[in-house]
Amino acid sequence: LSERLESAWKKLRGQNKISESNVQDALKEVRRALLEADVNLQVTKKFIEEVRSKALGAEVVAGVSPDQQFIKIVHEELVVLMGETDAPLAHRENPPTIILMAGLQGTGKTTACAKLALHLQKQDRTVLLVATDVYRPAAVDQLITLGKQINVPVFEKGTQADPVDIAREGLAQAQADQIDTVIIDTAGRLQIDQDMMGELAAVKAAVQPDETLLVVDAMTGQEAANLTRSFHEQIGITGAILTKMDGDTRGGAALSIRQVSGQPIKFVGIGEKVEALQPFYPDRMASRILGMGDILTLVEKAQEEVDLADAAKMQQKILEASFDFTDFLKQMRLLKNMGSLGGVMKLIPGMNKLSTDQLQQGEQQLKRVEAMINSMTQEERRNPDLLSSNPSRRQRIATGSGLKVADVSKLIADFTRMRSMMQQFGMGGGLPGMGGNPL
Ligand code: GDP
Ligand code: MG
Repeated sequence: LSERLESAWKKLRGQNKISESNVQDALKEVRRALLEADVNLQVTKKFIEEVRSKALGAEVVAGVSPDQQFIKIVHEELVVLMGETDAPLAHRENPPTIILMAGLQGTGKTTACAKLALHLQKQDRTVLLVATDVYRPAAVDQLITLGKQINVPVFEKGTQADPVDIAREGLAQAQADQIDTVIIDTAGRLQIDQDMMGELAAVKAAVQPDETLLVVDAMTGQEAANLTRSFHEQIGITGAILTKMDGDTRGGAALSIRQVSGQPIKFVGIGEKVEALQPFYPDRMASRILGMGDILTLVEKAQEEVDLADAAKMQQKILEASFDFTDFLKQMRLLKNMGSLGGVMKLIPGMNKLSTDQLQQGEQQLKRVEAMINSMTQEERRNPDLLSSNPSRRQRIATGSGLKVADVSKLIADFTRMRSMMQQFGMGGGLPGMGGNPL
């Protein structure tokens, strides 16, 4: 290799690693996405710092940009951070298992009690609901109504008894009736206050629950971090239920909850009905938070299709000027495997503005190029120069592929130009015959 080529090669290789400078834009974009998803500012800063240092120096898959690759890493880290899929609920060997609900008023605690009861019932577990929200008569009635709906008994003592006593007696009742799981609904306040925390702590101490689930309204946004911190420090939670995810929130609260408490989100609420409960899927949540599902799909497709060793070999060939029509066909098939050209193009930001006509033309052209290469002999594919100097070979290829000699000549000219361009600038440049469409 000449010295000039060698330095070009180094430069090219440098761009295939993630560096501070080549992901500047992506960093900004991720930060904005997280804040727009209402992830707490401190949580966002900490997270981005961690991912940045982790991502530096990572290899970039051929066919995607360092920015896109970085976003993929961010996505993976989000999934890791938000924890297991379907984090299991504690289940005691000798029943009853005790679940305590905590959270601010209106977040969906009472509704979540019924949802969870239904969920457990479907697993053939018996449930007793216990009503300790004695501050609003409607709260007890609400739980009774929900219990009737799903055919689950509700233990209550109206609104005059003490919450700790109700919880204790409810537990005794469950033991007597050999109930598998007790779910204790509690009172919330509009804001965190010491009365509420004191009462919750007292109930918790009295019944020693196996799970203390913090119910958080997904619309809480930025505040979710402080809220979680208060509850976790003062009560200690074992997990969370994120409600109202059927709204248009991006769900950044999930990240805040997890990072502040270290405890998993166990379920999400997706509606007012008792059936509207789902396990928590970290990968779906990560895509929703980033709001970048399409880019991720593209990067994943590229990763599936591109064999890294193959890509390295290809680059070597380019530098040695031995990149031939066989390699070219391989690259094209790779592109095709990534889905229809139109499908791939649409995934690229800014490219979805291409008209259907333009996309169809592109696909059409790809097919023609493939037909021409298929009509070449192995020798011709290996040594494209054979074709530049031999009209009868070009004629044979044209006939074989059902195209004109002019088409073949143009392909060869484009290919030759591209090959020398690639040698000069690395692997940039479009495919020949594609009318300069960036691919
Ligand atoms: P609590 O004060 O914490 O017990 O909250 P509730 O269970 O009484 O719920 C407050 C309101 O939120 C009610 O109108 C519920 O129907 C509604 N709600 C609860 N969970 C969800 C959910 O996942 N999605 C939607 N859209 N509404 C919900
Ligand atoms: Mg309630």
